[in-house]
Amino acid sequence: MELRGKPVADQITAQVKQDVQALQEKGVWPKLTIIRVGEKPDDLSYERVACSRMQQCGILTEEIALAADCSQETFIAALQEKNNDPSVHGILLLRPLPPALSGMEEMLAPQKDVDCATATALGRMFAEDPGAFAPCTAQAVMEMLAYYEVPLRGMDVTVIGASLVVGKPLSELLTTADATVTTCHLQTRDVAKHTRQADIVISAAGCPGLIQPDMLRRGVVVIDVGINVRADGSICGDANFLSCEQVASKITPVPGGVGSVTTSVLAKHVVQAAWQNSFPTK
Ligand code: NAD
Repeated sequence: MELRGKPVADQITAQVKQDVQALQEKGVWPKLTIIRVGEKPDDLSYERVACSRMQQCGILTEEIALAADCSQETFIAALQEKNNDPSVHGILLLRPLPPALSGMEEMLAPQKDVDCATATALGRMFAEDPGAFAPCTAQAVMEMLAYYEVPLRGMDVTVIGASLVVGKPLSELLTTADATVTTCHLQTRDVAKHTRQADIVISAAGCPGLIQPDMLRRGVVVIDVGINVRADGSICGDANFLSCEQVASKITPVPGGVGSVTTSVLAKHVVQAAWQNSFPTK
């Protein structure tokens, strides 16, 4: 069974649209500001897709493009202005920032940090704060698993990838959902040993051809977060889809899988931030 992202994204988007309408009836127009430093093609394409999803949901967007060599002072001034602007509910920093701005993401106001860029937001997520925003891609994987009714409680899950953006927070979300999680990374001695014992294998390594069918137990669920560009410009995941599909009970395609859910999660977080920032409960 192929687990496609579109129905999941459609379901989240439909709910977000209703929430946007409810906010507008209370006089709040949810708004996302995207801050990009430089012109990296990956950033430009994600920004385009994110803006189109926000538009589909009725969320206002504002794009701020800073020069690739902008100073720390310029970056902080742009960020502080949006931190202090009450009409902005969420801020998305396209990451990674250039080395000269490394660590500057910590200046982002935690209540507007809709993609979990700051240590404060990560800490809130680890502390299971219900108002916290997990990184959108990690949350998109959780939304996929929930939509396709993949049970997590007591399951053995192997996550390949331990970045702060995807792998580590995802391992934490899965642990919170009562799975038993093994996290692999580049220094893992034998990745296949860990994937073969898993009920669910999630790859977020960015390594095409990493997951082969002989690394999988029959009936496993495979979630492929990897987005890799082949020499001919086409996109593929980390799993060898056609051969892994023969072994897995469920598998996500790339493209058309997790990637299509990420921006709908971002929209959901903007709306949640708009509620929390406009109508604080305490
Ligand atoms: P990253 O480079 O920051 O981290 C990769 C992680 O995978 C590291 O922990 C590394 O140790 C591990 N790894 C790499 N190769 C490995 C191997 N051969 N064996 C075991 N571990 C290995 O990357 P990232 O930002 O976490 O992104 C991971 C992948 O997910 C990329 O392909 C990226 O394009 C994709 N991604 C997709 C979305 C989306 O679907 N919307 C969003 C973000 C990232």
